Amino acid sequence: MKNIYGITLTDLEDYFLKIGDKKFKAIQVFEWLYKKRVKSLEEMSNIKKETLERMKQDFTFSRIKMIAQKQGKNVTKFLFELGDHEKVEAVLMNHDYGNSLCVSSQVGCNMGCTFCESGRLKKIRNLEVHEMVLQILSIEETLHLRVSHVVLMGIGEPFDNYDHIISFIDIINSGKGMDIGARHITVSTCGIIPKIKDFIDNGRQVNLAISLHASNDTLRSQLMPINKAYPLKELIAVLKQYIQKTNRRVTFEYILLEKVNDFEQNALELAHLIHGMNAYVNLIPYNETSHIEYKKSNQKRILKFYDILKKNHIQVTIRREFGSEVMAACGQLRANYERS
Ligand code: SAH
Repeated sequence: MKNIYGITLTDLEDYFLKIGDKKFKAIQVFEWLYKKRVKSLEEMSNIKKETLERMKQDFTFSRIKMIAQKQGKNVTKFLFELGDHEKVEAVLMNHDYGNSLCVSSQVGCNMGCTFCESGRLKKIRNLEVHEMVLQILSIEETLHLRVSHVVLMGIGEPFDNYDHIISFIDIINSGKGMDIGARHITVSTCGIIPKIKDFIDNGRQVNLAISLHASNDTLRSQLMPINKAYPLKELIAVLKQYIQKTNRRVTFEYILLEKVNDFEQNALELAHLIHGMNAYVNLIPYNETSHIEYKKSNQKRILKFYDILKKNHIQVTIRREFGSEVMAACGQLRANYERS
């Protein structure tokens, strides 16, 4: 049986046609699920009884369980337990422009980035589509608010779960459902080139962020093993294609790790690497974790790095720090929970 929250509108339309009903029933069901937010089939009053009976045999409505919630200043972190007792997190950030939710895409992660907490617990499995959709629904219902922006920057590598994240985006983006605008959705990847190519062909107006974190191959391969398979030259080339084909800007995320990747030389190299691209760099103060070998760069070094990029005509911002007090850094809450 499939979980109803994991079905795209198109698949639901096919389903109704297959069971000999009308295609537009799919829209009505979507509205019940995502606009009126009913919790059971019985409440869908414009669907006839026999169809409901059939749907009951074909779909489950089961939810994911919120098992912990930690509140910080402008940030709330949630821990969910899935049907098989695996756990994932989501982080809600209150911005002046709306509520942004950081959603997990896998249980654990296989990318092995040396600074990242999520990678400490190897990938156990991909998240199912409904498990991503339900992170949003549960939080909206618990906190009585609407999520306006979604970032796939929680636990996991979204492009290592490509098909599911595409269906997830379809569902939350649908005007008949949650209606979260494509430009309010961001996928962040460590740089899996074949999937970036698929993403270009896919043509959605979703934002693309690349976890760069280094200015040359030697350093990047040390920090991010994926770089050995997909080195910078190839990564930059495919991103240039992305920019050209979609006319969209790419975001580069760059965590500043003290005396690892935050030297003036790195800033100059980075400016050179992405020179002329329609891109901007988001400098991220490192959220210190149990990877004690890495420290957060001090303010002076962060500002120096920023200045060098600016002087070299690179668009750059320094990300506001969110959630260090609630261990919001990628996988920290889950890792801590599993340890205790
Ligand atoms: N796997 C995807 C998305 C998840 S990580 C990716 O690599 O982009 C989301 C972002 O948080 C990435 O840029 C990641 O490198 C960064 N990150 C991981 N650990 C961090 C930490 N301790 N402090 C700050 N950012 C971190």
